[in-house]
Amino acid sequence: MALKDKLPVSYLLFTTRGRINRLTYWTASLFIWTTFYVLFNLLELLFSYTATWIIYPLLFWALFATATKRLHDSNKSGFWLWLILIPVLGPLVLLFLLGFKRGSVYSNSFGVVPNSAPDYFKNADAEKIPHLKTDERIVNDVTQLNPIVVARVETPHTIKELQSIIKSADKPICIGGGRFSMGGQTASPHSIHIDMRRLNKVLEFSAEKKQIKIQAGIRWCDIQHYVDQHNLSVKIMQTYANFTVGGSLSVNCHGRYIGLGAVILSVKSLDVILPNGEMIHTSPTEQSEIFFACVGCYNAIAVIANVELELTENVAIKRSHKKMQRSRYKAFFFEHVRDNKDIVFHNGDIYPPFYKNVRAVSWTKTNKKPTVKTRLMPLAAAYPIERYFIGAFSKSRFGKWRREFIIDPILFSRKKIHWRNYEAGYDVFELEPESRKESTYVLQEYFVPVYKFDSFASLMTEIFIRHNVNVINVSIRHANADSGSLLAWAREEVFAFVVWYKQGTAEPDKDKVAVWTRELISATISLNGSYYLPYQTHATAEQFHKAYPIAKQLFDLKKQLDPGYKFRNVIWDTYYKSQRHEFGI
Ligand SMILES: Cc1cc2nc3c(=O)[nH]c(=O)nc-3n(C[C@H](O)[C@H](O)[C@H](O)COP(=O)(O)OP(=O)(O)OC[C@H]3O[C@@H](n4cnc5c(N)ncnc54)[C@H](O)[C@@H]3O)c2cc1C
Repeated sequence: MALKDKLPVSYLLFTTRGRINRLTYWTASLFIWTTFYVLFNLLELLFSYTATWIIYPLLFWALFATATKRLHDSNKSGFWLWLILIPVLGPLVLLFLLGFKRGSVYSNSFGVVPNSAPDYFKNADAEKIPHLKTDERIVNDVTQLNPIVVARVETPHTIKELQSIIKSADKPICIGGGRFSMGGQTASPHSIHIDMRRLNKVLEFSAEKKQIKIQAGIRWCDIQHYVDQHNLSVKIMQTYANFTVGGSLSVNCHGRYIGLGAVILSVKSLDVILPNGEMIHTSPTEQSEIFFACVGCYNAIAVIANVELELTENVAIKRSHKKMQRSRYKAFFFEHVRDNKDIVFHNGDIYPPFYKNVRAVSWTKTNKKPTVKTRLMPLAAAYPIERYFIGAFSKSRFGKWRREFIIDPILFSRKKIHWRNYEAGYDVFELEPESRKESTYVLQEYFVPVYKFDSFASLMTEIFIRHNVNVINVSIRHANADSGSLLAWAREEVFAFVVWYKQGTAEPDKDKVAVWTRELISATISLNGSYYLPYQTHATAEQFHKAYPIAKQLFDLKKQLDPGYKFRNVIWDTYYKSQRHEFGI
């Protein structure tokens, strides 16, 4: 643990490392001078005036350390303290710099913005197993619901190293990106887990062509930092920016964008590594069979090494919102949102526990000045308010009522103008509960053809109410049809229902979730829809094949390219391994 966390006051008063803001500086100064005053008088009273000399070194060092850290906040070194020697003007300038000048809103050479996190939340490395002398490790995901023991973890730093690990592997292989999928998609028992997160370089970039080529272990937030300087944005990604590009492409992620859909629609080409270690270049027009078996296909036949993506302009966007009955939403969307080229992001939030009302939220291009100071999302070291409210919403019906009728009306009354990159830069950490031991937050997602919106919403409501599911939010998104992934979740234009709920971690709780999840999947399938695969694998094999009707083509290709079943994870252990005989593969 760092000194900063272990002894925060000692760190503040006696080290010159890092940055402090104005408030901390004034508070520390008050504390230093008050302590000095008390100690001075005590020493004089109990001993003598001479005894007070002992506290001067401490006083000067504390003043020097806090002042240095305050100067760092404006990206100035401690040498600026020499200003004190210039009569009159020097002390005045120093007083302004220390007590009144606002710190820079960006990280600088002295550290991150005070009280902010140094980086986006990351899942820890695979866990060591106490007292075990083997290389085995536990790979888990963000929910902590799916611990899986793997034989060892490999962390390649170059693509050559990655190829060599894959080629010479003596065991099956599973791949981990950010490990934010929630159902064991990144692990399989006794396999070699390849952690892709060190393969995170930008390889090529063209601002004119609005294109970037990156290694697949890079995260969206890293790309945002790179392209924001050129006023460009990632074209399609999720709402949160913690995820790796490889993990996002493998699930074929989507966000709140209007007029777009799954990320596959923004991928120009890929370099992928087959189970024999060979690397091939593929795109929607070159070796396209491989391309469509990689994007959205959970490392079934290849590991994605490099990715070429389309970018788009970073624009200022203004938030607007409207609350309405759920039965009005589809018409509202078609009249005001679907074909509006100025809307960048849109989603509708359905309010539990009655699921009758929706708040439709749009972010529309604007020429007005952003209401936020930074172009990119500033990170917080803690999110106490967000966590408090999420906890309250999940605790009771009254909590949910408060959200709909008190909290959201206040939150949405504020005018908000953000940069596109800012609005696409949320940190998953804001959703992290204090503990995931007894209960945990989990996601699920269902996709239905747009004209089936009302039918699905009614079926979903009935299932949630009957099973008393603790839903915190259902976010409605829109996506155009996929361009051809073999596991496309949008076979036509769809609405997505993103369900965020709380569940217990005990076995009976998991079983209950499995029951209502299967009911929801059946409801989706009955409407010719699909469900999302990065979440828990509760679907039966029959449901999987109904929701993904051309999965068999992927299985055939896997058999051909991966005859030894080298690439695996819980999805393939559940739906491919057990069915190889049934499908004659
Ligand atoms: C809070 C939260 C919000 C979310 N919001 C959204 C959302 O708005 N939209 C959405 O679409 N999804 C959303 N998701 C789901 C998220 O997109 C997926 O879980 C995604 O896979 C996360 O990326 P990752 O890097 O963590 O991938 P991982 O979980 O590490 O991996 C996912 C899959 O990809 C495979 N994989 C990883 N890297 C590679 C590679 N280089 N080559 C081949 N296969 C690879 C893994 O083996 C695994 O099967 C959300 C998840 C969370 C936790």
